[in-house]
Parts: sequence; structure tokens; C-alpha cells
Amino acid sequence: MVKVIKFFIEFLFPPACPLCDTPVSTHGELCAACWTSIDWISEPRCVKCGYPFPANLDLGYIPMCPTCASGNCELDWIRSACAYDDASRSAMLPFKHGGRVSYANFMSRAMIWALRDIDVDADIVMPVPLARRRLFHRAYNQATLLARPIARALNCPLDVDSVRRKYRPDMGHKNARERAENIHGVFEVVCPDKIRGRKILLVDDVMTTGATFSELRRTLIRAGATAVYGVTFCRVVRAI
Ligand SMILES: [Zn+2]
Ligand SMILES: [Zn+2]
Repeated sequence: MVKVIKFFIEFLFPPACPLCDTPVSTHGELCAACWTSIDWISEPRCVKCGYPFPANLDLGYIPMCPTCASGNCELDWIRSACAYDDASRSAMLPFKHGGRVSYANFMSRAMIWALRDIDVDADIVMPVPLARRRLFHRAYNQATLLARPIARALNCPLDVDSVRRKYRPDMGHKNARERAENIHGVFEVVCPDKIRGRKILLVDDVMTTGATFSELRRTLIRAGATAVYGVTFCRVVRAI
């Protein structure tokens, strides 16, 4: 029965590439041309934060960016599937604000691929929480849609309710310092028993300045978490 319904849905709404509408075989998948238009992050990259280095750069045995080398990485490690640019943004915005939840398929798969060089030892997978007021308006937390298949792939429990986020007005185009101030004290651990002694993998759609990760890590470590990692679909890549 499910197969029949699926057949009719696919007949009425044939799967198309979310970015260009070219027919594809499965809903939520990118066509080959769009797949190659995205700036996927590969080696060499910073072993800690995943910052991509130019392909011809020989950094020695353990490549580390200046931020991580000076001990200022936001988390214990971070990986992102691709760079934040026009191509990734054209997938991100409809996914985040336009109800295109099926995009989570290719995005989460790319994020699992981004973790390939790491032996992930997380005890729980946690999407970066969304304030209730935002959840009410958007109807879903895009980070949870990405975190669910990642948790499944890692065979790790998903935690969506141990931490709550207070509502703050949109951060828009604020600079790094203003973002950090705006996010200060925004997270609250409501189930400390589930956090204490755990290694936590945070999941988000995008990393901009890292202020959200930093603040959430601070909150989780204070509640007794032993390590906090992060994976995002894309990240802003600034020149270093
Ligand atoms: Zn396409
Ligand atoms: Zn780094």
C-alpha cells in the first residue's frame, strides 16, 4: 500500500533537483551538475576545526589552523561538509525557511561523509536547540532533521530535550562580537543527568562565527559534559 501511494506521489510530483529542477531519481537529491557546483570541503584541512586549506599547501604531519594552534577552537573538533557560498545558500534557505525538509537527505549524507576521518566516540547526538517561539513559527528545527540520520548512522541516541534555548531577536548581520554577546546565556540545561559525563556531538546547518557552538559548549561543560564536538552542513570560510 505504501509503495502504491509512493508511486502516485512520485508520479504527480516527480523528484527534481532542489537547486535547478532537473529530474533526479530520488526526492531531495541533487543532480550531478549541482553536486559539483558545491564547494565540498576535503583534505587538507585543520585536524581540529576542519578549516579547509589550499590543496597545494603542505603543512606537515598535523595541519592545524592558527585559531586551533593557539588553543581557541570553539569545540573539541568540528567538521563541515561544504563552504557557505551562493550554491550552498541556495539549498540552505529553502531548507531552513521554506519547508523543504527533504533536503535533509543529501545534506545529512554529506555531513556523515565529512566525519570520515574521525573516529566519532560521542555518547549522544544533539541538534543545536531552537527557541520555542521560533519552533512554533517554523514548525521544525532544521538541525534536528539533520541530526536524526546522523545519529542513526553513528548508532548513537538523539537528544532533543536536555537543553533549552531562550528566545532572542535575530542576529542578522551582526559582527562576531555582537553575535557572541547576543548568544551569551541563551542555553539552559534542563536534564543535567543526561549531560553529565557524556561526550556530545552537536549538529547544526551552518557555522558562521562559531559563537553558538562556543556558548553551547560552555553550557554543556558546566553541566558536566566531558567533550563537545560539532558537525555542520556548511561553514563560513574566512581567509586566514
Ligand atoms: Zn541541479
Ligand atoms: Zn582549526
